[in-house]
Amino acid sequence: AAAAEEPITPPVKVNYNRLLIDGEFVDAASGKTFPTLDPRTGDVIAHVAEGDAEDVNRAVSAARKAFDEGPWPKMTAYERSKILFRFADLVEKHNDEIAALETWDNGKPFEQAAKIEVPMMARFFRYYAGWADKIHGLTVPSDGQYHVQTLHEPIGVAGQIIPWNFPLLMFSWKVAPALACGNTVVLKTAEQTPLSALYVSTLLYEAGLPPGVLNVVSGFGPTAGAALASHMQVDKVAFTGSTSTGKIILELAAKSNLKTVTLELGGKSPFIVCEDADVDKAAELAHFALFFNQGQCCCAGSRTYVHESIYDEFVEKAKAYATKRAVGDPFKEGIQQGPQIDSAQFNKILRYIRSGVDSGAKLETGGERYGAKGYYIKPTVFSNVEDDMLIAKDEIFGPVQSILKYKTLDEVIRRANSTNFGLAAGVFTQNIETANRMMRALRTGTVWINCYDTFDAAIPFGGYKMSGQGREKGIYGLSNYLQVKAVVSPLKNP
Ligand code: ADP
Repeated sequence: AAAAEEPITPPVKVNYNRLLIDGEFVDAASGKTFPTLDPRTGDVIAHVAEGDAEDVNRAVSAARKAFDEGPWPKMTAYERSKILFRFADLVEKHNDEIAALETWDNGKPFEQAAKIEVPMMARFFRYYAGWADKIHGLTVPSDGQYHVQTLHEPIGVAGQIIPWNFPLLMFSWKVAPALACGNTVVLKTAEQTPLSALYVSTLLYEAGLPPGVLNVVSGFGPTAGAALASHMQVDKVAFTGSTSTGKIILELAAKSNLKTVTLELGGKSPFIVCEDADVDKAAELAHFALFFNQGQCCCAGSRTYVHESIYDEFVEKAKAYATKRAVGDPFKEGIQQGPQIDSAQFNKILRYIRSGVDSGAKLETGGERYGAKGYYIKPTVFSNVEDDMLIAKDEIFGPVQSILKYKTLDEVIRRANSTNFGLAAGVFTQNIETANRMMRALRTGTVWINCYDTFDAAIPFGGYKMSGQGREKGIYGLSNYLQVKAVVSPLKNP
């Protein structure tokens, strides 16, 4: 019934829909635009300037000038940090407007955007603003009569390509450390979600960013994205998205100027419920680990491994949590799950659900669209899932939980690790020995024990294996945006 209601009118207007180059909004050189759609209905929200190679060239020139001629890398770190702190204040001031734009373009619950994601954006910028004036090199001992030191310098122009699942958080993880370290940026947003980045970028300029320091090019991957990754004047590229696109980015970087690359890619993360777990709490956390953000998380706990002794009880509880998940218009209070991002993802998820059924997994609940309009999918739970089924191997990126059964820790460690991905893992146990053993045995960039999706600014995030290269966030994220220069001089003039 809820889906038959008219969509709630978003409490915000789209004021920015052009490319942001050198501190000004401009049309694409080609004059082209593309529509960005409301996932609740498939209707057009706005037409946005569609950047391609020529616009990327203009944006890179502006970023190059802002870097090579200053003032950004030449300002004191304290001045840079003050701008980033001021930006965080402005984000807080406009919290609900930013969140509404994010919900409209992406479909995520407004409460999630307003209470978690926008505040986290402010937190990330403050975290890296705090680092800006604490970055420095070392004085290094020498084998001879030399004075040796290292300078930690910005890399230069950073190209950043982000996905649509967390537009504001991905903006934050990329832009905040790059700017704090003194780099200039050309950002390519995802074609599904261009709006929030354009708006918050105006707040960065309001906070005092000099022209050209951050440029935002909306557009598509194979055109604008590829132009950025292969640009000869870009010194570094940071990418978050699918593993297949990550390979393309690395190849384009290698074929052009060997710019350094960080990649945050896909996953098929295990969530392991141990024999000793409180079954209800485990089911609740496993539910959150998978269903958060419509299941559209690279680190979603998408292989729920449950010990055989509690398996049946767990499946019942998992089903109950999925059945009572509140699905509907993301602007409505109390909604936990909105629509998937677009028709392509919607259809892909429904195909995986069919493949689960066809391969003999047991569909416990869900399994079909919700409502008649838009890209809503009912929270779906499969039990009796086997490791070799597609739903246990591929990244589905949707509200589909796969529950697998195991007998021993040795076995579940082996099965959890037998994937090309290595982004994250969850372990639910009261036993400290089990926890100690699992945290070491799991080959993933994050292990969450008795928690999931804890994303503080200081906690590093990234993948083992084909889930990525490098770490973002925290102190580790700084090194993505810094060069180390060794400076050597004799103690006595020659
Ligand atoms: P998804 O399948 O989830 O959309 P992608 O990896 O395709 O994930 O997209 C993530 C980001 O990468 C988006 O900004 C997209 O436009 C961009 N992208 C896609 N293809 C390419 C490409 N060939 N070169 C550069 N960027 C790309």
